[in-house]
Amino acid sequence: MATIVNNPIAQKFFLYARKSTDVEDMQVQSIEGQLDELRLLAKREGLTIVEELVEKQSAKIPGRPIFNKMLDSIEKGRASGIISWHPDRLARNSVDGGRIIYLIDTGKISALKFNTFWFEPTPQGKFMLSISFSQSKYYVDSLSENTRRGLRQKARNGFMPGRSPLGYLNDSRDKSIVINKKVAPHIIKAFEMYSKGDIQIKKVSSFLASKGIITSKNKNLRIDKTKKLLTNSFYYGVFKYGGEVYEGRYDPIISKKLFDKVQEVIKIRNGPWVKADQDHPIKPYNGILRCGECGMMITGDYKTKFYKGTNREVTYHYYHCTKKNKLISCSQPHITEDDLDQQLTNILKKYSLKKTWANQMLLRLKKEESDLAKSSLEVNNLKRQQVEAIDIKLKLLLDSYLDQIIDKETFQESKLQLVSQKKTFEEQIINNKKHQGSWIEPFKNWISEATEVEQVAKSADLQLKKVFAAKIFGSDLFLENKTVRGDGRNAWSALCADPTGRCLVVREGFEPSWCCHH
Ligand SMILES: [Zn+2]
Repeated sequence: MATIVNNPIAQKFFLYARKSTDVEDMQVQSIEGQLDELRLLAKREGLTIVEELVEKQSAKIPGRPIFNKMLDSIEKGRASGIISWHPDRLARNSVDGGRIIYLIDTGKISALKFNTFWFEPTPQGKFMLSISFSQSKYYVDSLSENTRRGLRQKARNGFMPGRSPLGYLNDSRDKSIVINKKVAPHIIKAFEMYSKGDIQIKKVSSFLASKGIITSKNKNLRIDKTKKLLTNSFYYGVFKYGGEVYEGRYDPIISKKLFDKVQEVIKIRNGPWVKADQDHPIKPYNGILRCGECGMMITGDYKTKFYKGTNREVTYHYYHCTKKNKLISCSQPHITEDDLDQQLTNILKKYSLKKTWANQMLLRLKKEESDLAKSSLEVNNLKRQQVEAIDIKLKLLLDSYLDQIIDKETFQESKLQLVSQKKTFEEQIINNKKHQGSWIEPFKNWISEATEVEQVAKSADLQLKKVFAAKIFGSDLFLENKTVRGDGRNAWSALCADPTGRCLVVREGFEPSWCCHH
């Protein structure tokens, strides 16, 4: 084959010209122009032309008589090469393009000469040719489709199209996204403030305003805008575009851990059914309790009663079961907010940790911390393997989507899950390296939280009490017959069993363990 290619004089060529009937062919020369140029090309390279062929039909759909006759003749061996203006003269549909590639594969065509495209019959050459055939097909695609594809490509490369969120700037020179050093620290602070769970979104908005982050009309960011900011995954390095998630190629300004914490607070503080405004004040204990009889959520209601005789208006705050369980006809009565608050306060108090014990535990932790360097290495290797496994899964997922084994929705959903998981692992690896023992930090946090409980329980901030109740009980807090009951999760359970904290033992080794079995 190589000798033939290097010695094209020994070959016979068809010269094929096709008229420009399509609008998109404006740049192509007229038939006469094409013929003149192609004859020159043949002369210059010393090629033998057996016949000149001129087609008048478009190449968009298969079935051009002259083109087909030419390929038939090539199959019979009358010639083994074609001279033409550009691949798009030969084929603009996959059938004709495929037939040409097939003739090259079987050796019937050993050379293609184009005025504006260089081809050689190597695997790379065939690949380029097939690209060119299909590109010709795409040529008819609308501009908007091309633009969309470009944007999607941009997203795939990790740069979000369009304007970046607050805290970032679009660098117009190289189209990259850079951190806005003036604004970003305040955004970080906003996340940190809100993650503690003891302030309202409104406070975050006024904090941002105090740092000059306001709307174009010189007003504080609206609550929903601020909430959108606090739920924007862009800040930890993952963004959505066109319904799909992408891993950003810019520097995240907050950790996924902090982001997750904020999402948890948002979930707790604003149950999906709670929309607070002037007419509908927040019911602080919404969404934290479930009915002990039927398992449905306990929800709050404020009712105002007007007493004619005394001209008095009294608002009653109470909570009741939503009774949405269709299988159980729930008989539970309602409870006043005061009663509920009193009970929750008493229950919370059981989960407080004495300062003296907290200090002893912190001392032990310090000792433990210094022994941990060795084991963190193994953990990180394991996590790295998990990240690699996710990468493989992501690849398989994309393949399944492209092969149309799964639909777009499933693809996007699964991708979000995997990317989110990957981010968590990657962050844990970094944190493990930093902290040498990932449980120590949360454990310290827990100790400090546990010492705060008493203060919180005494306070009048009902929403803060709810945040702590959620931390301690998760979703296992029940109301039945006007009585609240719940068992603290994890470390909290040990604390309740022994309020002195005496039996909370930091055992030698990797994880803290709880000796309590009474
Ligand atoms: Zn119920």
